[in-house]
Amino acid sequence: MKGMKRRTKIVLAVVAVVLGSAGTTLAVGARPTSHPVVAADLGTSRAGSDLEGLVDQPGPVTVETVVAADWEVDREGLINLEHPEAKAAGLHPGKEPIRIFLHAFRHPQRGLFLVDTGVEHALGVDPAKSAVGPWVASAMNAETLRVRTDTAAFIGRQSSPISGVFLTHLHADHIMGSPDVPANVPLFVGPGESAGRSAMGLVMGPLTDRELAGKGPLREWRFEADPSHLFAGVLDVFGDGTVWAVAVPGHTRGSTAYLVRTPTGPVLFTGDACHTRFGWEHHVEPGTFSWDVPRSRESLKQLEELVARHPRIDVRLGHQDLRE
Ligand SMILES: [Zn+2]
Repeated sequence: MKGMKRRTKIVLAVVAVVLGSAGTTLAVGARPTSHPVVAADLGTSRAGSDLEGLVDQPGPVTVETVVAADWEVDREGLINLEHPEAKAAGLHPGKEPIRIFLHAFRHPQRGLFLVDTGVEHALGVDPAKSAVGPWVASAMNAETLRVRTDTAAFIGRQSSPISGVFLTHLHADHIMGSPDVPANVPLFVGPGESAGRSAMGLVMGPLTDRELAGKGPLREWRFEADPSHLFAGVLDVFGDGTVWAVAVPGHTRGSTAYLVRTPTGPVLFTGDACHTRFGWEHHVEPGTFSWDVPRSRESLKQLEELVARHPRIDVRLGHQDLRE
């Protein structure tokens, strides 16, 4: 979890120690969410080389990214400070300014989709009354969070309804606009995001459940092994080669990046496969917020190599802007 205060870390550490000393380890922790899950009814498995064969051809999808909020969270969570590049740059633990983005893309036949959910309107009014709730709002360093465009406002100015939400992963800062998304909108997410018990799940599971309350089941992408061995899995989402889901496990089990083909070139939404500009430019994977740092490093490498082979790709990182 991002921006977690020392007090909350201590509570989590105590919970972990107690569970561990009970001889039950973390098997009695909680899952990231108890929200129901079904297989996605979208997505055709393709080879990474198929994606690369099409990626530089202009496509019909248009994209909009807005800044939902400014925030500050722990640098050591965003960037692996043990990485030699981070040490060489003299990076130290501290607060890092970040943003929460709300991305949307419009497909000419399939409609308007969100990539992650931005922030709920109520969070900008009174965090204690939002789905985040007062205790977690404090733990998340929410007093430094400044809402700039809430999701209700964004949806309100669209000319058509939302056809679906493509989540990069289930961390709170990527689903905390969900309460503003109409309940009938399908939510798509990578495989295994709700799997695995941990002490963290005891704290964050109820929050995730609150954010998703009233929504239909999470629809999990069904990735298969990439025959070209470029990625952990690739889906042609609509079967027309315009919108792609790419498995990038590591930050979380089911972390997923999305690539869309627009009239002016491809756009890649990395999610938190890379949070920061430093991480992208110095090839340093996310830090302590990660589920599996070595896998996160491998997934970041695969995305960076994709962009090196196709430098026209417009890369939109998890929490900082490469274009400024
Ligand atoms: Zn994030």
